[in-house]
Amino acid sequence: MRLVKVEKVISNDRVRVSGLVLTESENKEIEIYFEYPECFASFVDEDGDVFLPALLIPSMFKGEDLTIDIPVSKRLCSKSGRIQDIFQHWYPHEMKKIKIVAPEQKEFEGEPGHNVGAFFSLGADSFFTLYQDQNGMIPDVPRPITHLIYMKGLELPLSAYSDGQEKEVISKISEVAKSTRKDLIVGETNIRDLFPLTWGPYYYGAGLASCAHSLSRGMSHVMISSTLSYRRILAWGSTPLMDHLWSTEKTKMVHVGAETQRSEKVGCYLSQYPLAMKYLRVCFRNNGGAVQNCGKCYKCVRTMTALHITGNLEKAETFPHEFSKKDVIAIANRNDLGYTEEVLELAQKYNSDTSLINKLQHQIDNVHLDEIYGRMPFHYFVISLFSWFCYKKPLKYLHDLSAALKKKNKLYARLVSAIYR
Ligand SMILES: [Zn+2]
Repeated sequence: MRLVKVEKVISNDRVRVSGLVLTESENKEIEIYFEYPECFASFVDEDGDVFLPALLIPSMFKGEDLTIDIPVSKRLCSKSGRIQDIFQHWYPHEMKKIKIVAPEQKEFEGEPGHNVGAFFSLGADSFFTLYQDQNGMIPDVPRPITHLIYMKGLELPLSAYSDGQEKEVISKISEVAKSTRKDLIVGETNIRDLFPLTWGPYYYGAGLASCAHSLSRGMSHVMISSTLSYRRILAWGSTPLMDHLWSTEKTKMVHVGAETQRSEKVGCYLSQYPLAMKYLRVCFRNNGGAVQNCGKCYKCVRTMTALHITGNLEKAETFPHEFSKKDVIAIANRNDLGYTEEVLELAQKYNSDTSLINKLQHQIDNVHLDEIYGRMPFHYFVISLFSWFCYKKPLKYLHDLSAALKKKNKLYARLVSAIYR
């Protein structure tokens, strides 16, 4: 992949920074962009930093080297090797380590921006960041959050927003921004339309980093709210292990909230934060829009369970208030498993009723079993057993015997060794 040209254009009350990219594998030109209201034109940057994170991950998937013909941050280039190491270890079959060719690497020497941004979508993690900010609980930044950032095109690709369903969400985010005296930046980007990678495990941190750098003339720091706590770090697109590596000399990426498990964020802190209880939005079925939560999908159920455990579900205006013990937290991956374990710990800490604790424990136990069978399907298990008794075990005897006879008959020993291997 090659970033050959970057343009910053102001028209129709909007400012857009776009990059022209040539892809080797598909032999075509694509335009990747980030767009904001014109009043933020002074924030919008046009260096290669804006595009490097968003292009690096797809390049690793394609196994294509990445060339940046535009000036780019020296710090970001130097850290991109480490970022690749982490991804490559996590996803060795999907992602390849590639070469980054960037002839014009530079260290920013101007005056950095004075603002602090935080991505905000009304979700549990970003609401917890706002709660921490309001209560002086974020030590890693020099000043409180000045801007909330909402990007259309991240939660879902732009093509999914066919009927303006984001308008209600933006309206509620604006109410939160007004209540907390933050400025709101509503932007949009087409990165997920161009690169349809699974957002959470692969593209989450890189996508947010590119958006942050697109505003880097105005931002000294941009926060990414943690999904995972320090206790449960796993392969995921945004982690405290990696997010800071996306920083440049101009804008530092700050991963916040990982010291608190999500079940505690929701059950113990957001439940005491009136704004969150009025606007919290987590539903998997909202299609990038609705601010009410369905109460049935896995995200709703796990959030409602944490609120129910701490006795606060009735405060949550955007959720149904009936908690059904029949609803179980669906576990489809390690992230869900970790969250269910957190909820179980919360239930034990709050002495929830035994049936709920047993149900959570039963679910976790079953998933562990499923994982074992997931690694070794039953037919493979049978074949392995058969192979061990009928094939490998007798050959092992021959191999041991050959070791004893090795000096006397080297050809025989070599033959047995070759077969055994
Ligand atoms: Zn839902």
